[in-house]
Amino acid sequence: MKKLTGLVTGWLGRWLGIAVLAAFLGLRVFAAETPALVIQGGKLFDSSSGHMVPFRAIVIEGDRIKTIAFEGQTVVAPPGAQVVDARGKFLIPGLIDAHVHLVHVLRSVQMTADEIFPLFLANGVTTLRDVGDEVVAEKLLRNYAAEHPGHSPRVIMGSPLIDGNPPYHSFVSWALTEPEKVAAFVDEMIKWDVQTFKLYVGVKRPVGQAIIKEAHRRGKWVTAHLAWNYTAQEAVADGIDSLEHIDSVFSFVLPPETPRWPPPAERAGMTAAALTDLQRRILEVKARVDFTQPATTEMVAALVRNKVAIDPTLVVYRNWMLLHDQPEVQQHPDLGQIPARLREGWLLSAQSSPIDPTTVDLRRRQLAKLQELTGLLYRSGVELLVGTDTPVQFCPPGLALHQELELLVASGLPPEAALIAATRNNARAIGQTANLGSLEPGKLADLVILNADPLQDIRNTRAIFRVVRSGLVGDPATLLQRVPK
Ligand SMILES: [Zn+2]
Repeated sequence: MKKLTGLVTGWLGRWLGIAVLAAFLGLRVFAAETPALVIQGGKLFDSSSGHMVPFRAIVIEGDRIKTIAFEGQTVVAPPGAQVVDARGKFLIPGLIDAHVHLVHVLRSVQMTADEIFPLFLANGVTTLRDVGDEVVAEKLLRNYAAEHPGHSPRVIMGSPLIDGNPPYHSFVSWALTEPEKVAAFVDEMIKWDVQTFKLYVGVKRPVGQAIIKEAHRRGKWVTAHLAWNYTAQEAVADGIDSLEHIDSVFSFVLPPETPRWPPPAERAGMTAAALTDLQRRILEVKARVDFTQPATTEMVAALVRNKVAIDPTLVVYRNWMLLHDQPEVQQHPDLGQIPARLREGWLLSAQSSPIDPTTVDLRRRQLAKLQELTGLLYRSGVELLVGTDTPVQFCPPGLALHQELELLVASGLPPEAALIAATRNNARAIGQTANLGSLEPGKLADLVILNADPLQDIRNTRAIFRVVRSGLVGDPATLLQRVPK
């Protein structure tokens, strides 16, 4: 980093030679204790138009963007400001992961989220949306992240998994079966600062309807991972804001002859051989679903009409649900960057959850179908979010977001659409449109400086030079030193 004194002379001198009208923007002498940052451009990603726009300088005061000077404009930087030279580089808004679990998954490997927070930031993920956790521990982690912005992403809190009784995951769920108890539950969660209410697989429609109504009354977002008792068609008609996992759409457009995957209580009475056979028969149908059938067309139209966002989380389907026995997942180079305890826990878990090796081709075809449906949703105008389900098995914190972007592009999204989804759309889903999701004066200074253009190749989101979170500059290599080996 160079000090500003030298920079202003060279920089202004060069530009004053050009006959442009210089607009002096954002002049303010600020107190010595207020950190200021100037980023010399470069190009920045406009998450409204999807274009890369040349800029000359961004001035950041404290944790917010004060001014952006585009071509033909000049800005006088605050005295003593830190300067980052991003000429020839590409800025994108800080990436948001719309689907993480910071408490209960890590507990199984005896880790706490503060150990992996720097991994998110080093990979350009500056905000996390938790979608299902124990709120007491989650709030402690949220507070820790807020107090340590130099090495933690910001955390937006989610409710526990709102489920039927007994709940599917007893340790992280809230069994709710009486709609009349919903208003008090929503109030209690809001006291904990919950922004996202998450309906889970066993919830029934009357409770789902009540959650949507009560959460909306208080300006909060409702999402769902649906399965047995509440259909996507019903939730969409009831006004839900988003659906988690592309499977929450896929499972509800399958042909009527598809065998049904039974709820846990029914599965308990079945033999292992019967379950394996049932899984294969379901996979055979899923691998050849035709999305031109009316069930899909009607569902997609309803999603568009009701403005329901979909968070596909393709990465968790590839890495854990479908292909966790494959070397491309178990030996993915991204796994070399995560703590050994996490990686070894995942490998152990894969050994104890074997999948029928003979179905690998069917599983690959199902993944292709999930990607085909994701591409169809995009082309039809459904708003997509970008989430990963990290740290669920083989979805490495921070890195999984880049895998998800790559999977979205492989599903037919142009790179700019994938980036818009991970920034602007995700910011809307966490109620932070005024603060995050785009690089504009007045917004929080969360951004990623890339060495290469992500619109040319989405894998360039991994080419991180610096990460800025709340106006604090982070070097990925330094951040990674904080992550346990
Ligand atoms: Zn999840």
